[in-house]
Amino acid sequence: MARKLAAGNWKMNGMTADLVEVDALAEVVEAAQCEVLLCPPATLIAPMAARAGLMSLYVGGQTCHSAGSGAHTGDISAAMLADAGATHVILGHSERRADHGESSTDVALQVTAAIDAGLVAIVCVGETEAERDAGVTLQVVASQVAGSIPSGAAPEQIVVAYEPVWAIGTGRTPTLEQIAEVHDHIRSELATRRGGAADAIPLLYGGSVKPGNAAEIFAVSNVDGALVGGASLKAADFSGIIEAL
Ligand code: PEP
Repeated sequence: MARKLAAGNWKMNGMTADLVEVDALAEVVEAAQCEVLLCPPATLIAPMAARAGLMSLYVGGQTCHSAGSGAHTGDISAAMLADAGATHVILGHSERRADHGESSTDVALQVTAAIDAGLVAIVCVGETEAERDAGVTLQVVASQVAGSIPSGAAPEQIVVAYEPVWAIGTGRTPTLEQIAEVHDHIRSELATRRGGAADAIPLLYGGSVKPGNAAEIFAVSNVDGALVGGASLKAADFSGIIEAL
């Protein structure tokens, strides 16, 4: 049985003043039946972690470089994220794959770096709309899972987030049957490589999760939580999702 996780991705949003949203989550986080994580921009990791330390809230990064240090202007290493107070890092988000040309091979190297730094790696996979229309969703997702997750990663070091690219930030979601089909497929793909240990890897759904649709999505087979973008920016919205899990 995998642990439950409600994870928020602030993307390139958030100033110091927005940390009041973290304070506003305190009661809901304390009462939560799941782990709760927020991944702000790198500039806010340390101050958010300072506030999160007063409650049971985890803080994470949104990407990391595969190298530990060196001549990589503008990049951030996994050890730097950990040093700032992060416990998790999102890797292979479709916006990183599209905007920065990150391949599954690149993501696997980042995952290794993250694990070496003591972080939990949240590995994102998902098909484009064209791939879904072409009927290759399961093949695409299975290939990303196989290519992005190093075989040596232990279940407690990994979370997989299924995020259909066409559902991110669009207000559109797959049907519950489509979510179940992909999550069941990811679970069985992980099981072919890891046997029963695969059951301990949390599988998150991401893509236009809101307080109004969270409960029905969380009731779907093999959905252990959510990776939430827009609805994680405001405590009022994210609270409704946490409470549904
Ligand atoms: C995301 O960016 O990971 C995401 C799921 O965004 P949204 O919830 O806004 O669709």
